[in-house]
Amino acid sequence: MARPITATIHADALRHNLAALRDRAPGRRLMAMVKADGYGHGLETAARALGAADAFGVAAIEDAARIRAVGLEQPILVLSGFDNPDDLEQLRALRAEAIVHHAAQLDLLEQTDGAPIRVWLKIDSGMHRLGFAPEQVRDAYARLRAARGVDGEIVLMTHFASSDEFDAHSPNGRQTPAQLRAFAAATEGLDGPRSLANSAAVLGWPQACGDWIRPGGALYGMSVVSGRSGATFGLRPAMTFETRLLAVNRVAKGERIGYSAAWEAPEDMAIGVAAVGYGDGYPRLAPAGTPVLVNGRTASVIGRVSMDLMTIDLRGQADARAGDPVVLWGDALPVETVAEAAGTISYALTCGITRRVRFVNA
Ligand SMILES: *Cc1c(COP(=O)(O)O)cnc(C)c1O
Repeated sequence: MARPITATIHADALRHNLAALRDRAPGRRLMAMVKADGYGHGLETAARALGAADAFGVAAIEDAARIRAVGLEQPILVLSGFDNPDDLEQLRALRAEAIVHHAAQLDLLEQTDGAPIRVWLKIDSGMHRLGFAPEQVRDAYARLRAARGVDGEIVLMTHFASSDEFDAHSPNGRQTPAQLRAFAAATEGLDGPRSLANSAAVLGWPQACGDWIRPGGALYGMSVVSGRSGATFGLRPAMTFETRLLAVNRVAKGERIGYSAAWEAPEDMAIGVAAVGYGDGYPRLAPAGTPVLVNGRTASVIGRVSMDLMTIDLRGQADARAGDPVVLWGDALPVETVAEAAGTISYALTCGITRRVRFVNA
């Protein structure tokens, strides 16, 4: 038999979320982040549904080519930038823009004789991943202004480390205001649009929106704010991850189920065996008790999640039969809930869906 597992992508939810984020940041331009294959939803599907965005953000040049191939004409920002003349040539050919985050890129832009490209200057305001340190910003900016490889205005950007913590008095909550101050000081008096906010900043730090917002997860209906699903912000899940029961079995009290005999039946009971496992991207570390929906009603994972299968507690679901639908996450079961149970974040789950899962556009 064919595996009954599907990931259904809801274009209407993507469009709804885009509009909802625009409402939260009126007058700002919106770059839709579609890196990691549109957070696992499919790059082309996501980019088409988000076609009303002002720009797209991708991790690599190949992704920019895929967006151009579906006929979208917006600016595309390549987050990883470039590190050789051939990359610059590809950026020009795709009319893509690039992040500049280290000094060797300034040298390349000064030395190139090809047509100039548009750049975003990345400033490390405290996350300490990519970007120029505040004291290097003025020099980098001046070199970009003078470089023959640079076209037009330079966008000044930074990225937040802890914007999902909204309480400005908690230890992590202090980091966003500190990053805002560091960014403002480093860029004071420099011309150009500002871009700071990821999804969580758009949702929780409206003062940090700048000229260009850069939401990713929220466009797909997901939140990384602890204890709050995207739905609590008026967002709709863009993915339903669903399979079917392959079998319904009875086990006796005391029988142990699955690998390592990790779960013991506390009474005579029915268990469901669903066609999904870590080979599909369902988290192996989802513990007993993680919710799933069988026929739309909440049930829970029991035993170890295996490669192709998982087992489900069907007490209270006497009518469940082989072939019945099992939702792993979607509208009525936020992926954030599953992620929290499995000790991960929603983005990692949608990005982790594997190639054998059939994608359906709805
Ligand atoms: C991924 C990313 C974003 C979007 O982050 P979300 O939490 O998904 O909104 C914004 N900016 C940069 C530079 C990123 O890498």
